[in-house]
Amino acid sequence: MSDLTDISVTEALVGLAGKKFSAVELAKAHIAAMESARALNAFITETPKLAMKQAIESDARRAAGRAGAMDGIPLGIKDLYCTKDVRTTAASHILGEFTPTYESTVTQKLFDAGCVMLGKTNLDEFAMGSSNITSYFGPAISPWSGKDPVKANRKLVPGGSSGGSSAAVAGRFAMAATGTDTGGSIRQPASFTGIVGMKPTYGRCSRWGIVAFASSLDQAGPMTRTVADAALMLRVMAGFDSKDSTSVDQAVPDFVTALGTSIKGMKIGIPREYRIDGISAEIDNLWQKGAAMLRDAGAEIVEISLPHTKYSLAVYYIIAPAEASSNLARYDGVRYGLRVPGENLINMYENTRAEGFGKEVRRRILIGTYVLSAGYYDAYYLKAQKVRRCIRNDFEEAFKKCDAILTPTAPSTAFAIGEKQDDPIQMYLNDVFTVPLNLVGLPGISVPVGLGSDGLPLGLQLIGRAFDEMTLFKAASALEKAANFNHKPPFMAGT
Ligand code: GLN
Repeated sequence: MSDLTDISVTEALVGLAGKKFSAVELAKAHIAAMESARALNAFITETPKLAMKQAIESDARRAAGRAGAMDGIPLGIKDLYCTKDVRTTAASHILGEFTPTYESTVTQKLFDAGCVMLGKTNLDEFAMGSSNITSYFGPAISPWSGKDPVKANRKLVPGGSSGGSSAAVAGRFAMAATGTDTGGSIRQPASFTGIVGMKPTYGRCSRWGIVAFASSLDQAGPMTRTVADAALMLRVMAGFDSKDSTSVDQAVPDFVTALGTSIKGMKIGIPREYRIDGISAEIDNLWQKGAAMLRDAGAEIVEISLPHTKYSLAVYYIIAPAEASSNLARYDGVRYGLRVPGENLINMYENTRAEGFGKEVRRRILIGTYVLSAGYYDAYYLKAQKVRRCIRNDFEEAFKKCDAILTPTAPSTAFAIGEKQDDPIQMYLNDVFTVPLNLVGLPGISVPVGLGSDGLPLGLQLIGRAFDEMTLFKAASALEKAANFNHKPPFMAGT
């Protein structure tokens, strides 16, 4: 590991501005780190040439006094973001060698701010999963598995679906990365790998050019090693986009100004119902500790009630597959990537979709098509939408009593590749704490707070009001400071 790969984005920007090192040196160090970490399978596509070109341009901009907000910062981009002239797979066979002719709004914003792209990171196929195991390109491995993760007895998952991003950021071979979060895919992998993951308010970041999973739930967000980096990066990623009809025209504040400010008098809600639903003692203890940290920093802890959140997973697994089945209808063997010939058109559709989609994606298409079908629509989809409204009302009530809510991020530390794989319900339970926010569009951030008895990272989640990421960053930075999580994974690229 070089000195240049174990620093934060914020530190790197200071170093670049002070001419301690150049964007080219930073890019070279990260490309070498990325290559040395190949066995972790965190990247589906590496783009070292593009990175070098962007780094050279970055140095030129800086020399000319025109450096952007993240100029020269080497990033991993989740392979769900369309990147112009760079293969974009969504970790699915069906997209084959699909190479977009356009750039997603969020990646364009990052490039406009001077970011350097190291490559496209691995994920669960179409972002459906919590482990990165459903990827057509094989699982990504967590740098927490051991000093030599590939030889470890238990190869751990880096979480999912943004597992390549979390592995690369935690393993020090990307300084930060983009993720997407439909039910927890930024926050759960952040918790599993000891990094920070932020899901902004629905509508904060444009979804344009991001391969759609469930359109009313999907959000883009940053995955970083510090809260400050997340604040900085979100500011670059966020903003209204007329190309996304659900993007919201709201001013994007300078989130960095929220960091380190006092949380005296801030009210932090603890949802009563979450405590009793079979939560493990270890997670409960960590949660109590986190609440105590915030109290010691000046916050007031209040009990709140979210009675309908227990239905969140059930609601999610109707709505998300319903939207997915409709979004995935476009992969027909005609317009994108893979085509498997057949005797006639229908046959070609069937062959392409049977071969192109993995098992989990096919399961979701089946569930989604079922709940949307005539006769079942009212009983499932419409009902789910109604319960979704009840969940939203709960949060509205809760936010009359508090400014932010504290919960665990995930119900456990990282599990091993192969575990929980045969039982989809077990896998779905991973998102019990994260899914409610997507259903109601609220922002959430996972901050690493401690280690479990197995020595693996655990995060806590803070939930905020819609478009109040400022308060969330304030509380998150207080929690980060108190928790002082400075554990590093046994594998760090280049060492
Ligand atoms: N794990 C959840 C799922 O499988 C959420 C995934 C996500 O947020 N993209 O659907």
